[in-house]
Amino acid sequence: MIGIFEYIKEVLHGTKTLIQGMGVTIRHYGRKEVTQEYPDNRETLKMFERFRGEVVMPHNEKNEHRCTGCGLCETACPNGSIEILIKKVVGDDGKSRRVIDKHIYHLSMCTLCNLCIKACPSDAIIMAQTFEHAVFDRSQLTKVLNRPGSVLNKDVKE
Ligand code: SF4
Ligand code: SF4
Repeated sequence: MIGIFEYIKEVLHGTKTLIQGMGVTIRHYGRKEVTQEYPDNRETLKMFERFRGEVVMPHNEKNEHRCTGCGLCETACPNGSIEILIKKVVGDDGKSRRVIDKHIYHLSMCTLCNLCIKACPSDAIIMAQTFEHAVFDRSQLTKVLNRPGSVLNKDVKE
């Protein structure tokens, strides 16, 4: 059994620590919020510059991309997240040329290592900052990066 002096000492210690804790709470109460309330801030949320969300292929307003179908990104990818399908087309000059049919990207396998983007000689693919990738069907994470009907930008050397 503890004595009266020990009891009073513990009560005083408890009161002191309570006041200290309340002091910390009060100090932080008036400070500016740093917590981001996702998804309420979805419209204004900006990811950090270095954030990697997924590999995408930009197209211009004429539905042109910069992918020559060279396959270097496919080779650079360490886990087979990229598949390049090539097709042959006959140009206006009657000559047969190899062009990209599908640039297939498996987001579900991608580790976002950035190696494919570094390997691309024509800057055809970039890392986007999108991050809401949850789906009910895994097949939706396999994407064709070149848009339907898109063609190679004529400024890109093959
Ligand atoms: S970011 Fe890395 S893992 Fe993802 S597709 Fe590119 S090379 Fe492959
Ligand atoms: S994205 Fe770049 S590296 Fe990959 S096939 Fe197209 S041009 Fe080649």
